[in-house]
Amino acid sequence: MFVDAHNHLDFFKDKEKLEKALDIIKVDNIVTLGCSMDIQSYNFTKKLSKDNRNIIPCFGIHPWEAHNNYKNLDLFDEYIKECKIIGEIGLDYFWIKEKEKYPHMKSVFEYFLKKARNYNKITNIHTKGAEEEILNYIKKYGLKTPIIHWYSGDLETLKKLIDYGCYFTVSVDIGYSKLTQEIVKLLPPNRILTETDGPTSLEWVNGKYGYPDEVKNIVNKISIIKKYNYDEIKNKIFKNLKTILMKEGIVI
Ligand SMILES: [Zn+2]
Repeated sequence: MFVDAHNHLDFFKDKEKLEKALDIIKVDNIVTLGCSMDIQSYNFTKKLSKDNRNIIPCFGIHPWEAHNNYKNLDLFDEYIKECKIIGEIGLDYFWIKEKEKYPHMKSVFEYFLKKARNYNKITNIHTKGAEEEILNYIKKYGLKTPIIHWYSGDLETLKKLIDYGCYFTVSVDIGYSKLTQEIVKLLPPNRILTETDGPTSLEWVNGKYGYPDEVKNIVNKISIIKKYNYDEIKNKIFKNLKTILMKEGIVI
């Protein structure tokens, strides 16, 4: 089994491309955490998961959507209770430049963290430009199994997140970013996961439309950096996801 611990299936806008992605997830056996941007996006992924056992829908309000979703936070409670994993949630001071959005981003994020603590949920967290602050929030709410999505901050904060017990999804820029390669060198093998982050992320990196089987390339590149053979690291990554899910009583 391969692992795509952070994808966005609603980003496959074209029906044919979506069908192709879903086929790949089935045929290549890729356990996929389908993150959401908001309620609509969660419902879309939830529907897809009914016909595809490899898809686990995750519910969250993405930091980019927080300013549209900060009023009536308690609307989210039933979805948080229902979902197996919370995500995508987080903070972003890199891509979001409008400072007036920051208070909404924080209040939405903290709402989800409180719920994650109360309901004992796994979290899939976006940390762009807010790494240190996220670390403090993780500690404040005592999160049990945070998955840090596509970490790209400084290495000192990375070490603190590793010490805390976080897991990390290595993404599609691994062959292209020196920083990502440095990060992978520092990550303990028992904390590594892989992700594709939707079709547009690979496109952003190298212009190619990103299907879920891109995880195979990522596994290959991790195996080279960590000096493991391909199957060994592939199996380790699957075992890591299984360990996280089992902590929360989810069996795959
Ligand atoms: Zn994402």
